[in-house]
Amino acid sequence: MSRGARATVDLAALRANLRAAREAAGEQRRLMAVVKSDGYGHGLARVAGALAPGADAFAVTDLAEAMALRSAGLRHPVVLLQGPFSTEELAPAAEQGLELVIHSAWQVEALAAARLPEPVGVWLKVDTGMHRLGFPPEAVADTWRRLAEAPSVRSEVGFLTHLACADDRDDPMTERQLAAFEAACAGLPGPRSAANSAGLLGWPASRYDWVRPGIMLYGASPFSDGRRGHAPLRPAMALEGQLVAINRHAAGEPVGYGATWRCPEAMPVGVVSIGYGDGYPRHAPSGTPVQVAGQRTQVVGRVSMDMVAVDLRGLTGVEIGAPALLWGEGVPPEEVAAAAGTIAYELFCRVPPRPGRRYT
Ligand code: PLP
Repeated sequence: MSRGARATVDLAALRANLRAAREAAGEQRRLMAVVKSDGYGHGLARVAGALAPGADAFAVTDLAEAMALRSAGLRHPVVLLQGPFSTEELAPAAEQGLELVIHSAWQVEALAAARLPEPVGVWLKVDTGMHRLGFPPEAVADTWRRLAEAPSVRSEVGFLTHLACADDRDDPMTERQLAAFEAACAGLPGPRSAANSAGLLGWPASRYDWVRPGIMLYGASPFSDGRRGHAPLRPAMALEGQLVAINRHAAGEPVGYGATWRCPEAMPVGVVSIGYGDGYPRHAPSGTPVQVAGQRTQVVGRVSMDMVAVDLRGLTGVEIGAPALLWGEGVPPEEVAAAAGTIAYELFCRVPPRPGRRYT
């Protein structure tokens, strides 16, 4: 019997989620699929290949990810969300037809001084309140002018900002950010982009010309309150293990490291072949949902490196080798993430190579 731990990525689910994003965006808007960090842990080239027919562009973090897309044969516009990390990256970016998000003065100066083989596409990042990357609104007009005059910059400069609180549909911060964005770019030509998944689904005013969904493409809700009020998304990744042991314990017996959980009654406890060494969060507490042989139950005791114990009370037809679903269709990743005190983004990105990726 093989260990049976694996992460299966459903490419059809990715495509269905992209269709949902397109529908929300409306026909007139363009869509930049965010595939950074190895396609949110799903596998960059496979994800991009699946999304390619429906995406107008891809967004990644750095040149290495962009080159991986080019090596995979993708000719779409590719946007480097953090721009160049050094002046040396300008020439390869121009050669590969990449687009740069310019957020700092040194990047503007580097572009102004550069003599590139091709002019490069540029987005000017506006800091509308997140205070991570970008130019303050009052610096936008001058920065735009300097970029627009640079011979190495394509004539159309875009404007881009990032929303800090769009996951909370009651937070007034988003409206403040959008107002600041509009004021900063008023009267300047060029496409605008603000919406991440939460913006796209929850804040219609943020959609502008280009939307930039990430997490929703992978099938997790972008909202802090779960999935209320938007088209259902299909989790693209299923993290699976299998039952490798079934034990019966007496009432009061502990399970796992630290003996943090005790059987409330005489009961069967299963051991599933997956642990934090496979990216299942060690902080998932007793009570975290899991499916065994298609039936919902819970984690009990601490998650180990290679194993996790599950409550088998009330389950039927459960034998050694039965499949266990740690997250996926039926066990929403955002529910597991919330139980473990994190977000689905982190769950996905933390799945290491060990469980392997299978694509269906
Ligand atoms: N745009 C930028 C600049 C980002 O950094 C991200 C992701 O963090 C996204 C868009 C996509 O966000 P989400 O995954 O919440 O849709």
